[in-house]
Amino acid sequence: MSVLVTGGAGYIGSHMVLALIDRGERVVVLDDLSTSGRAITPAGVILVEGDVADQALLRRLLAEHGVTDVLHFAGSKVVPESVEDPLGYWRNNTAASRDLIEACVGAGVANFIFSSTAAVYGAAEAGLLPESAPTDPANPYGRSKLATEWILQDVSAATSLRHVSLRYFNVAGADPARRTGQRSPTATHLVKRACQAALGRLPFLGVFGDDYPTPDGTCVRDYIHVTDLVDAHALALDYLRGGGGSATFNCGYGHGSSVRDVIGAVEQAAGHKLPVRTLPRRPGDVATVVADASRIKAELGWTPRYDTLDQLVSHALAWESSLNSDG
Ligand code: UDP
Repeated sequence: MSVLVTGGAGYIGSHMVLALIDRGERVVVLDDLSTSGRAITPAGVILVEGDVADQALLRRLLAEHGVTDVLHFAGSKVVPESVEDPLGYWRNNTAASRDLIEACVGAGVANFIFSSTAAVYGAAEAGLLPESAPTDPANPYGRSKLATEWILQDVSAATSLRHVSLRYFNVAGADPARRTGQRSPTATHLVKRACQAALGRLPFLGVFGDDYPTPDGTCVRDYIHVTDLVDAHALALDYLRGGGGSATFNCGYGHGSSVRDVIGAVEQAAGHKLPVRTLPRRPGDVATVVADASRIKAELGWTPRYDTLDQLVSHALAWESSLNSDG
């Protein structure tokens, strides 16, 4: 019995692998090392370099390691990139996932946890987004992930595979013990960039639009600490192993922060002002995306441990400081 973690060398996947090892699980990582650039898996973890769409590799790997559970993190996750390269997103997030799921069904995998996204909701109405909110993605990224949720629903209805789709809101921060974090120097997400700007590794931080219908005009997101997100996966795994039915859960805290709030928190953690410039809106962005997190709390007993912007940002900045300036 072992757990396959696709994308296990990447940002969120590497945190998950550490948590699984801490729980005493047998872990196999499948990663193409496209964003992590190098193998960083801890001792005791089997790393297979390859593509999740490689059916022959998957069949071999699932059988050889007796994989019972799959946590599928591998994929592409940058909204503006998806607008420029929709076919790449449909390939990496949808077609590759379909192939992986087919191999899992063939190998008799029992439980499948999928990294979905709040981007499936699209242009939100005011207020919190429950899982029952209409799905209407505003960009190819959200559509490519929603399509995979649908594949999983159809396959779970037709086979013995059961799944949980976790809809991530804005994942940020780093392992509090600094064992891993966001490694990719070209990551485009706000907290990473703000930390790079704080450390003088970016000339300035661009704010993409300050004319949104939000309290300070900048976009509002629900930033969730990566360690709390990993806890949610562990609970989802226990839930499926305990016989729980296929389900979808939001992963967010239920309160939002604006781009300017994030900048303020990074300035506070760094002890100085950031160089900031207001730029035009970024294609594909929506004004406000905040979770209704009541379902995951009620059904999985999820209790966040790092639910403040200050903790999230200070862990992200500590991690960023520990990297070389090119990393
Ligand atoms: N953002 C920004 N400057 C940056 C990166 C992001 O102003 O350098 C904004 C972006 O427009 C969005 C929010 O920060 O409103 C969160 O963006 P991010 O890329 O972190 O995550 P997304 O919400 O797109 O998944």
